[in-house]
Amino acid sequence: MAQGTRLIFLGPPGAGKGTQAQVLAADCKIPHISTGEILRQAISDKTVLGIKAKGFVDKGELVPDNLILDLIRERLKQADAADGWILDGFPRNVSQAEFLGVLLNELEQSCDFAINLEVSDDVLIDRLLGRGRKDDNRSTIARRLEVYHEQTAPVIHFYESQDALKSVDGDRPMDEVTEALKACLVN
Ligand code: ADP
Repeated sequence: MAQGTRLIFLGPPGAGKGTQAQVLAADCKIPHISTGEILRQAISDKTVLGIKAKGFVDKGELVPDNLILDLIRERLKQADAADGWILDGFPRNVSQAEFLGVLLNELEQSCDFAINLEVSDDVLIDRLLGRGRKDDNRSTIARRLEVYHEQTAPVIHFYESQDALKSVDGDRPMDEVTEALKACLVN
């Protein structure tokens, strides 16, 4: 089995996954793989993937699994991901989590654990409205939170039942959250 740090970041939109994943990835010298960022880049480059994904992202819906699964397979096969990675925004439903298990087996890699960054809905809405990304308007935010509770929250239980989940309180100043996450990595 290949060595390295391999983490999955779970948590609702606005929890700070992207920011924290970036800091930790730089610290561990491994790539930060954000499916949301890959999709936004594809949409702005108007690639085939971007054109197919745009309508879903704009509405706050999940992009269909078939598009995401190919994307993640190709990304994890790249050389820079051989010795570790942090996944942010994937898996986002239980079937994606099951797929990831099979893919990691195939790649002879194993994930260390998933980290759930916990933040309550009212804090999230304020943060997202303040962020100003194109999909951060009231109706899309409401739908993304709904999709999160329906489809992504079960992924937390998926990793919990495999004894592979740690939780961190994300409703604290950024530096404190970073310290708590680093403590997770050494314990
Ligand atoms: P946030 O977590 O703040 O909603 P992301 O950048 O993770 O932001 O995702 C933005 C959008 O990209 C999602 O609302 C969804 O449409 C799409 N997306 C990202 N990752 C996935 C995924 N794993 N499966 C399906 N859709 C995804």
